[in-house]
Amino acid sequence: MQEEQPEILKKERRNKQYASPNGMHDILPVSWPAWNHLYKKVNELAHDYGFGRIETPIVEQAELFSKGIGAATDIIEHEMYLLKSKGGDTLALRPEGTAPTVRAFVEHGMHVWSQPVKLWYWGPMFRHERPQRGRYRQLWQFGFEVFGDEDPAIDAEVIQLLTILFKELGLKDVSVQLNSIGCSQCRPYYKKTLLHYYRPHADKICANCRRRMKINPMRMLDCKDERCVRVKQNAPQIVDHICEDCRHHFKNLLEFLEEINITYFLNPYLVRGLDYYNRTVFEIWPHDEVAPGQEEAKKDGEEANKPKEEKGSQFALAGGGRYDNLVKMLGGRTTPAFGAAAGIERIVHELKRKNVKIPEAPAPRIFLIQLGDMAKRKSLKLFEELRNNGISAASSFGRDSIKSQLKIADKLGVEYTLILGQKEALEDTIILREMLAGEQLTIPTRKLMDVLKTKLAKKPKRKVPRTSFFQVE
Ligand code: AMP
Repeated sequence: MQEEQPEILKKERRNKQYASPNGMHDILPVSWPAWNHLYKKVNELAHDYGFGRIETPIVEQAELFSKGIGAATDIIEHEMYLLKSKGGDTLALRPEGTAPTVRAFVEHGMHVWSQPVKLWYWGPMFRHERPQRGRYRQLWQFGFEVFGDEDPAIDAEVIQLLTILFKELGLKDVSVQLNSIGCSQCRPYYKKTLLHYYRPHADKICANCRRRMKINPMRMLDCKDERCVRVKQNAPQIVDHICEDCRHHFKNLLEFLEEINITYFLNPYLVRGLDYYNRTVFEIWPHDEVAPGQEEAKKDGEEANKPKEEKGSQFALAGGGRYDNLVKMLGGRTTPAFGAAAGIERIVHELKRKNVKIPEAPAPRIFLIQLGDMAKRKSLKLFEELRNNGISAASSFGRDSIKSQLKIADKLGVEYTLILGQKEALEDTIILREMLAGEQLTIPTRKLMDVLKTKLAKKPKRKVPRTSFFQVE
């Protein structure tokens, strides 16, 4: 999530000759504790659930996405960043991670690995969407993909992994929205039924949905236009039209989820924006947010009377589903698969919105001040020695005045400052200043580590503020 900036700074930024591209943002040091915390948790869970890491290139052949995601989807029609290579290929900045992972599965012959093959990724994706809060053009995602097993236990396992992740992150209030969108056998019949319902209402829906009627009718169900939401309310629901096998698969998934105590909400309008899904689709939302299609249910429910803490993200945190035909479609053998992706900026924003405490590396208790060239040279060596002795120290090597360096040390809230001036550098000594008492003592450099270790073994007298070094200036 982009850093909060005072209005005056935002204005200054807008007037700069160069700014980050629209919808793309820098991740500044102040955000990294949350990003690192999330990464650590995802990495840990991926390991515990037996997922191997995969990293695919940021660009792929554009056709991989148009074929995989579907030519008539928003992502392909409007949101792909395309580039022509010097060799004449049309490449695309990846808009999502599933198609590239499937490409890698096929390319590396992973069908001969022991199944199921479980892979996870973490990285930036690119979609030329209309930028707004929580919707970026460069967005970061992590995702999990499982190949080679059509058992609904796999669907349940990935949903479980994500709900555990949110719980362990401290985001207990999330809701799982579920639907089954059938398979290539039963979906065509449902599409016909849907069109039969929509045709007489064609003049009551938005122009975009009139177009969708022809190319991608199921997307009419997640249109947010008020007119379409009204018409959708009486539309036939896909779960009533799926075949016996799909119904059985979905029923088993629900039983698994109940067995592991995962509360879910059936959302008959959840269809997701990518064509490759079949059977299970799901999304995870902050609980005080309304998933598309759940507006009415929520109005009637107890949640309606709950005060909102702050305007929510209005976006899903994660989503995914089953894609049993994609591997074959992209040149591999028939391989059932299930996957999910989560939005990193949105999760970090949610952690902030819910005031979740993020563990941070302990702040240094020592600040190293140097004055003059010789002291600077010695300080660089001393800094390394401190690190080798497990003592973390902050410093500001670019500064020459003791006043400005002491000011930084004070703001950082360190307990001790080491001062190395020209005289000390020549005499091989160093000044140790206790910041609270303001007392100073000169010690021979060779004794410094022992003195520091004894002092640091005591409980800190000063509560170190959670100021980042980068915010002090
Ligand atoms: P999708 O690949 O569209 O299924 O998205 C998976 C997750 O990525 C969503 O649930 C969001 O959390 C996140 N996401 C999708 N699009 C964006 C975007 N434009 N900006 C930020 N996060 C996004």
